[in-house]
Amino acid sequence: ITRPPAQKVERGQNPRTGRVTCTVAVTPPDGVEAALGAASAASRAVGASSPATRARWLRAIADALEEPDAAADLIALADRETALGETRLAAELARTADQLRFYGDAAVEGSYLGVTIDRATPARPSLARVRVPLGPVAVFGASNFPLAFGVLGNDTASALAAGCPVVVKGHPAHPALSARLADLALSALERAGAPDGAFALVTGFDSGAMLVQSPHTAAVAFTGSQQGGQHLWRLANERDVVIPVFAEMGTVNPVVLTPAGAAGTAEVAAGFVRAFTGGAGQFCTKPGLLFAPSGSGFAAAAGRALERSAPQAWCLTEQIAASAAAGTDGLVEDGATVVARVAGPGRGWSVEAVLLSAPIGAVRPGNRLLEECFGPVALVVEYQDMAGLLSVLPRLQGTLAAAIMSGGEQDPDIPRLLDALTPLVGRVVVDGWPTGVATAWGQQHGGPWPATTAPASTSVGAAALDRFTRPVTYQGTPDMALPPPLRPDNPWSVPRRVDGALEMG
Ligand code: NAP
Repeated sequence: ITRPPAQKVERGQNPRTGRVTCTVAVTPPDGVEAALGAASAASRAVGASSPATRARWLRAIADALEEPDAAADLIALADRETALGETRLAAELARTADQLRFYGDAAVEGSYLGVTIDRATPARPSLARVRVPLGPVAVFGASNFPLAFGVLGNDTASALAAGCPVVVKGHPAHPALSARLADLALSALERAGAPDGAFALVTGFDSGAMLVQSPHTAAVAFTGSQQGGQHLWRLANERDVVIPVFAEMGTVNPVVLTPAGAAGTAEVAAGFVRAFTGGAGQFCTKPGLLFAPSGSGFAAAAGRALERSAPQAWCLTEQIAASAAAGTDGLVEDGATVVARVAGPGRGWSVEAVLLSAPIGAVRPGNRLLEECFGPVALVVEYQDMAGLLSVLPRLQGTLAAAIMSGGEQDPDIPRLLDALTPLVGRVVVDGWPTGVATAWGQQHGGPWPATTAPASTSVGAAALDRFTRPVTYQGTPDMALPPPLRPDNPWSVPRRVDGALEMG
C-alpha cells in the first residue's frame, strides 16, 4: 500500500498567546509551477492592456478591500495573526487601498513609459523609445506590514500597474490573512475582466526558491531581512538567465541630533523613544542609532522617557522576538551598555524594549552596532564635535533613511550633514523621524547596498513601476506597427519627448 505524502501546512499563530489559530496548506511544487505557467501565459495580455484598464483592475481590488464587511474581517484576522492592533491595521488597510489606486493612477499618467521619439531626418532613421513590461514578477512580502507590504502591497500593486502578472509568496507570519487577501483579489480581478493568471498566491518556504529559479519569472520583488533578500539575490544571479531582484531590506537608519538641536533634548528624546518602540520597533525605517552631542544628556533623557513608556507589545513571530533579544546581547558584546530596559507583556512573543549607548570609537565597519536589530532596541552614541562626527559617518552602512534633528531652518549643520548622509541613504528627513513612508510621486524607498540589492530603484512611490519595465527603441519602424504610446495619435495620452521637446499627453 502506498500512502499519499502528508500534506505540508503552515500554522498561523496568535503572537499574544502563541496559540495556533489556523493551518494553511503549503502549495505543492506542481501548484507553484501551474501558477507560474499561468502567469507566463497571461503576460502578453496583461502587458498589452492599456494603463487605464490596469488602473480599473487595481481600483476593483481596492474597492473590494474597503467593502465594510470584508474590511472588518480582514482587520480582525490580521490582528489575530500579528497582534499589531486593530487601529493600526485599519489605517494600514486604508493605506493599502490608496496605494492600489495610486499605482493605477501613476500608470495612467504614463510618464513611467519614458516615451522618447526622434523623428527621421536625412541624417538618421526614426528612433522611438518606450519602456515595456518585463513579464511575471515573483513578490515576497514582509511580516511587519501584513497589508501594505503584503500580498496586495506596494510590490504587487506596482507590478500589476506596470503590466506584469504577479505570483506572490505568502508570509508564514500571517497565512490565513494572505489566503483571504488572495481570494478577494482573484474575485475582484475576475469581475474587472483581468486575464486568468494575472495574479496568484503560493505558500511555503520551498515555493520561494522555486519562484526565483523558474524560467517563467522575469523579476523578483522582495521586502524583508537582509539575510533573506541577499540569499534570493544570489539565487537569481546563479540562474542561466539572470533576472533582477529588487530586495528592500532592513537597516539601522541613523539620526543626528545637532548641537543646536540639543536645546530640545527632552522633547527629541521622547520622540525617539516613540519612534523606536512603536509597533514593537518592527519597522524597516526604525531609527536604530542616534548620534547626540556629548554633554547633551540625551541618553539619560531617552532612558527616562523609555522607563515612563507603556509596556511593549508583542513581536510578530517567536523568531523575531528571539532575534531581538539576541540582537541586544550582540550589541552589548560589541561594546554597548544598557541605559534602560522595559519588560514586555510576558506572554506570547513578548519582547523587552532596550536603550543602549556606546562610545563613538565602537562605530567601525564590521561592528554589530552598525546593523539593524529588528525590534524595540536602539543605541545612542555621543560625539565630541561636528568634525569628529563627520569623519565617522562614512563608516556607516548604506541605509533606507536617515534623519537630522536640528535647531531650526537656520541651523548651519544641516547642509554639511546632508552632504555627509546623502551618499549613504535613499531618503533623508530633517526634523522628523524616518519611520513613515508616504506613497507619493516624490518618494524614494531604497538606498545603497545593503539597504537594497538595486540602489537605483524604489519599492514605494510612483517610480516603483520602473522596476518592472525595460526600455526598447524601435528604429525605422512604421507607425502602424509601433506600440500604442509611440503612435502619432498617442491613444493612451501619455507625456512624450518628441525631437527633444516635452509634450504633455
Ligand atoms: P524575512 O524573514 O526575510 O521574510 C520575508 C519573506 O522572504 C518570507 O516570505 C520568507 O519566507 C522569505 N525568505 C526569507 N529568507 C528566505 C530564503 N533564504 N529562501 C526563501 N525564502 C526566504 O523578513 P520578515 O521577517 O518578514 O521581515 C522583517 C524584516 O524585513 C526586517 O529586517 C525589516 O526591516 C525588513 N523590512 C523591510 C522593508 C522595506 O521596505 N525595506 C519593509 C518591511 C520590513 P519564510 O518565512 O517562509 O522563510
